[in-house]
Amino acid sequence: MNAGRAILHCDLDAFYASVEQRDHPEYRGKPVIVGGDGPSERGVVMAASYEARAFGVRSAMPLAIAGRLCPDGIYVPGNFDRYVEASDAVMAIFAERTPLVEPISLDEAFLDVTATEHLFGGAVEMAREIKRAVRSTCGLVVSVGVATNKLCAKVGSDLRKPDGLVIVPAGGEAAFLAPLPLERLWGVGPKTREVLAGWDLRTIGQLARFDRTALETRLGDHGSAIWERANGIDDATVASEHVPKSVGHSHTFDENTLDPAKIESTLLLLSEGVGRRLREHALRGRTITMTLRVAPFETRTRQRTLGDATNDDLTIYRIARQLLRGALAEDREGGRTSPVRLIGVAVSGLSEGEQLGLFDAARHARLNAALDAVRARFGKDALDRASAREVHERRRLSGHRSR
Ligand SMILES: [Mg+2]
Repeated sequence: MNAGRAILHCDLDAFYASVEQRDHPEYRGKPVIVGGDGPSERGVVMAASYEARAFGVRSAMPLAIAGRLCPDGIYVPGNFDRYVEASDAVMAIFAERTPLVEPISLDEAFLDVTATEHLFGGAVEMAREIKRAVRSTCGLVVSVGVATNKLCAKVGSDLRKPDGLVIVPAGGEAAFLAPLPLERLWGVGPKTREVLAGWDLRTIGQLARFDRTALETRLGDHGSAIWERANGIDDATVASEHVPKSVGHSHTFDENTLDPAKIESTLLLLSEGVGRRLREHALRGRTITMTLRVAPFETRTRQRTLGDATNDDLTIYRIARQLLRGALAEDREGGRTSPVRLIGVAVSGLSEGEQLGLFDAARHARLNAALDAVRARFGKDALDRASAREVHERRRLSGHRSR
């Protein structure tokens, strides 16, 4: 791995199910299916342990089918706070080793370790070390692909799951891909595959040797892009973002519900969580997105962009609630009143909080001193930045939680 770049693709194995098995020793070695309370429930499998996969259970499969394949499996609704926590811990291990980390989802990231290689004795040793650290610190298993580009690293991490470590040597990219079926290649979906099957192309190697001009004529730029990839060429960079794209939380109800108080109070709690997280990272965002999943698994997404970026819980909540009410009203008008399965809120269009200039800082300090003086004179409740109505609303809604 001394030519060009050194890229790792790290992908946790059966992530949600593995977190459940880690946190519940009695689930270990057993088929665990995340996505619902029971096999008869509507909805889909979000994750299946390898023991459940042995029965044919797969992600995105309707729970009813999973229930037929694996009636004695352990069905759990999922605990997203735990998954986010576990993901944060794993991403922190990556970030300790290189600043160039591109998270793809909770359980997956690209790492560019070209510049840091000498510190850790090479990319392969770093991959081994990351696998050890994730296991000992987080109690989870990660598969890693090591290559000179993202494409081969990604294909590599998936090839020997679970607990895989696949190394694609520099110069060996095309040879590594050649025997694999076309569906392993990025950008080759069912439609493209149909076209390629018309030429009797089944493996990546066959595509790599095929006439590039014919591909371009038939598929345009896409044709030359997939030809290059088939030949192991991929220049995409690892796009580390110090500012995340969005901050969001969602909740899956134990039982599908149409109770507006239950839905809205959950939305309030989620909005508070999002606001807190934004403030922790000194971020603000302009776009608020509300996601609603109704039974069986249709998703409604509504969003609004504000003039000013915010990280205020109640601002986030008010907008999200308007979007929620709008979406539910549309459903009612359309004669659809499916109970709600999941509710989520996210803030995107993020920017880092402005650094206060010296002048502003002095002004804020003076203002705070003045407020403190008023509080000292008239009591603590005399001045509160949240209006009395907001406080009332918050109490009223949080009261619904216990109903
Ligand atoms: Mg994974």
